[in-house]
Amino acid sequence: MQLYDAIVIGARCSGASTALLLAQRGHRVLVVDRSSFPSDVISTHFLWPHGMSYLNRWGLLDEVLAVTPAHTTVEVVNDGISLTGSVPTELLREYFRDLHGDDAGVVQSYASVRRRVLDEILVGAAAKAGAEVRTNFTVRELIVENGQVIGIRGRAVDGELVEERARIVVGADGRNSFVARTLALPKYDERPRCTFAYWSYWSGFDLGPAQLHRRGRLACAVAPTNFDQNMVLVWGPSEWSREFRGDVPGNYQKALDFVSPELGDVVRSRGTREERIYGTLDQSAFLRPLHGPGWVLVGDAESAKDQCTAIGITHAFRDAELVSAALDRWLRGDASIDEAMTAYGDRRRSQNAAAYHDYVCTLAEMRPYRHDELQLFVALRGNQQETDRFIATHADVAPVSEFFQASNLFLLNDAAKESSADHAVFEDFAETSRSYQQNLFA
Ligand SMILES: Cc1cc2nc3c(=O)[nH]c(=O)nc-3n(C[C@H](O)[C@H](O)[C@H](O)COP(=O)(O)OP(=O)(O)OC[C@H]3O[C@@H](n4cnc5c(N)ncnc54)[C@H](O)[C@@H]3O)c2cc1C
Repeated sequence: MQLYDAIVIGARCSGASTALLLAQRGHRVLVVDRSSFPSDVISTHFLWPHGMSYLNRWGLLDEVLAVTPAHTTVEVVNDGISLTGSVPTELLREYFRDLHGDDAGVVQSYASVRRRVLDEILVGAAAKAGAEVRTNFTVRELIVENGQVIGIRGRAVDGELVEERARIVVGADGRNSFVARTLALPKYDERPRCTFAYWSYWSGFDLGPAQLHRRGRLACAVAPTNFDQNMVLVWGPSEWSREFRGDVPGNYQKALDFVSPELGDVVRSRGTREERIYGTLDQSAFLRPLHGPGWVLVGDAESAKDQCTAIGITHAFRDAELVSAALDRWLRGDASIDEAMTAYGDRRRSQNAAAYHDYVCTLAEMRPYRHDELQLFVALRGNQQETDRFIATHADVAPVSEFFQASNLFLLNDAAKESSADHAVFEDFAETSRSYQQNLFA
């Protein structure tokens, strides 16, 4: 039986990318997935500029851009306060230099790439780089000897149980990770409060760059995607999900009309829905241990979080680069496995990573914005540099701790005092925030 350097379980954003990067470095890789490709998963698919930059670093961006519209500016509207900006190239460069040691391939554009498009490109690239790809293959057991994972047992559809062995098994198998369940890995920093999210695909209009709207406890987004369609998504607090589910098409439109009457009108009067409305309620956040004897986790398997900042795919790409660089050093004999995994862990468990995880989890509670938060958004109008830095922070390019540090907020709030007095949202703030607490779908 041949011994692989790595077996990767899961062949989507984190798994196919890890397999690709290890195979590109000349390692013997087997990557398996119970799915076949092309296929979608329950996920929307917004890719921030650092996500696009990873694809560019791996030589895959042109293939994506050949079939996917891309833009650089995004409009963010919070309770009627509109901000438009983009993630600055210089911050993107800093991000890559800090995390990966070089800033090759940085691009400033974002895109919304259907998973049936993106994941197939990733799997194809892994195969082309020399990884052995087995789809329709479900892993049923991990082979463990003396506490060390040394391989897998699994089967193709209607096939025999097959055994394969490797020096390391990579769990890239999503939030309900088989690897994590089999090894009884604990979850920690669990945050059960999350959003419900429903979305579909619409033709018949072109609104240009992506828009993200939030009003009270609800939000919606529209982004152009593949096949000349728009992905239109609505989300809200998990406490309202039961009532929302009572009439999904009706409440989807009702949420759009409430959060952005203009978008609601475009969808109703000009849009043709091309697919069913997809949805999910299971988005609680948690972390799991990163690695142990013979195994390592990447992507959602290790760190699952709410969709509200659209970051999971980009984080999966980040993990793939970090883990493949670490494993490469070990497989080449330049570091012990402990040194390699410690290096991976240090990057993944940085102060910034913890602060951003907390930022996402807090946003996912979907509380109405506080007065001071709205004041901050008002202050950002007309300050393009800080608006761009806010968007970069929301996207996890710039550190949360820098934008939200007290001295920066003081400066912005000073500016806000002058510009907020005449803004409509403050006219009857107490009554408005009280009305936002009522469940729109009850
Ligand atoms: C509603 C929603 C919206 C989202 N929107 C965005 C967004 O706009 N932008 C963004 O960046 N992120 C978004 N995300 C997050 C994103 O979907 C995830 O972060 C991303 O899919 C994680 O990739 P992954 O490769 O780690 O796991 P997955 O994509 O979950 O892939 C895991 C793979 O493992 C395979 N697998 C599992 N068990 C086995 C087994 N035993 N044997 C063989 N194969 C197995 C599965 O078949 C699957 O293909 C969203 C998530 C949700 C739920």
